[in-house]
Amino acid sequence: MTTLISPATGQRIGEAPSASLAESDAAIERAAEAFPAWRDVTPGERARLLRRFAAVVDEHIEELADLEVRNAGHTRGNARWEAGNVRDCLNYYSAAPERLFGRQIPVAGGVDVTFHEPLGVVGIIVPWNFPMPIAAWGFAPALAAGNTVVLKPAELTPLTAIRIGELALEAGLPEGVLTVVPGKGSVVGERFVTHPLVRKIAFTGSTEVGKRIMAGCAEQVKKVTLELGGKSANIVFADADIAAAAASAPYAVFDNAGQDCCARSRILVERSAYDEFLGRLEPAVTALRVLDPGDEASEMGPLISAGHRDSVRRYLGDVDVAFAGTDPGGPGFWVPPSVVLTDDTAAPIWREEVFGPVVAVMPFDDEAHAVELANDSDFGLSGSIYTSDLGRGLRVARGVEAGNLSVNSHSSVRYWTPFGGYKQSGLGRELGPDAPHAFTEEKNVFIAH
Ligand code: NAD
Repeated sequence: MTTLISPATGQRIGEAPSASLAESDAAIERAAEAFPAWRDVTPGERARLLRRFAAVVDEHIEELADLEVRNAGHTRGNARWEAGNVRDCLNYYSAAPERLFGRQIPVAGGVDVTFHEPLGVVGIIVPWNFPMPIAAWGFAPALAAGNTVVLKPAELTPLTAIRIGELALEAGLPEGVLTVVPGKGSVVGERFVTHPLVRKIAFTGSTEVGKRIMAGCAEQVKKVTLELGGKSANIVFADADIAAAAASAPYAVFDNAGQDCCARSRILVERSAYDEFLGRLEPAVTALRVLDPGDEASEMGPLISAGHRDSVRRYLGDVDVAFAGTDPGGPGFWVPPSVVLTDDTAAPIWREEVFGPVVAVMPFDDEAHAVELANDSDFGLSGSIYTSDLGRGLRVARGVEAGNLSVNSHSSVRYWTPFGGYKQSGLGRELGPDAPHAFTEEKNVFIAH
């Protein structure tokens, strides 16, 4: 069993099961047994079951949100959005079974057609920062494509995944089609990688563990998608609406207390607008409502654990904080939103993913310099560009080596658009219209006339 702690209070909130190696094997074998029947469910019926699953999730949004507020310390507004995102992903991909088109390719002497066939058992490994959406981004398209799924939530945040697994059964998905296997990465997660019946791993988490998983998958030439860390840049040009850019910057990095792979944790500001931007950023940061996550007004909650809070504090111990917001204090795992000014591109605060409410700000000289600084990173997940020049916005968006850019906005993830990273931020793409294809083999069949 794993003891679960409330991040907001530091108090024990309960226990969750932790599967052994034998239990992991049994879950994988049950998923493999359930596969042929699930693959053969007609497209219309599979679509109907996924829509039913979405409807059952919708009936439990408040319950799921409550669990996430307690278990992960997410603000209530975020947690509700996250549960709604599970429903929306299921609804979106419920349209896929009837649209999993192949192609008919002109050939001499016959007919050539392609099919997208499911892989079998898919293993989905989820981090603690967005337990519900990241699980659904994997299981919704994987199930729609006809695979069965074993899902491992993070040790710290298993409650919503366990509940979603129950809701799948309530909605009528057959036993073994979606199985939640809570437990340790070194036991359950590794077994997904080494078990030959698991045909693909969809992993989201740290770059360090992702590299290890990729190496493990190589042993069996197992398919793998990786969604890893980030150190994304928010680039603010002097011709931008500086007030709007400064007002939105805190939300681009401090949402979910900075525990967001897409966090714009580096702000690059054109030198001529630097002072004005900082002057406007400070009140926006100090006004952020860092409150108990159960409070409807809360905009930022605590960090996930005492250990993670200590790691974020270590980064702050090595730098001068220019200004910071507040936090409620007490026994929870709180760190106030903090702003650091730097001109040192080698500094850990500039290069490493802190994964907490900390942002580093640096001035730049011109467009080429901004792109150079943004790309001077091992990561490449997301980023923002603030400018009133549309041509420049598009040029810089094309120039930044990252998978998800927004111009005059800090939005990153929509379930109906593709999502993923360049460089060490990941491998492959999730979401968007093509996601089900990533859970299939393409088969080519030639029929002679
Ligand atoms: P983590 O890598 O420690 O753990 C992620 C998951 O992998 C957990 O379920 C864990 O139990 C499991 N795991 C650990 N060791 C394993 C092993 N040897 N074999 C198999 N599974 C193993 O990451 P975390 O601390 O939970 O999450 C934070 C990280 O996730 C950050 O780096 C963040 O940027 C990243 N992240 C990326 C995205 C994205 O889409 N790119 C989204 C969210 C989070």
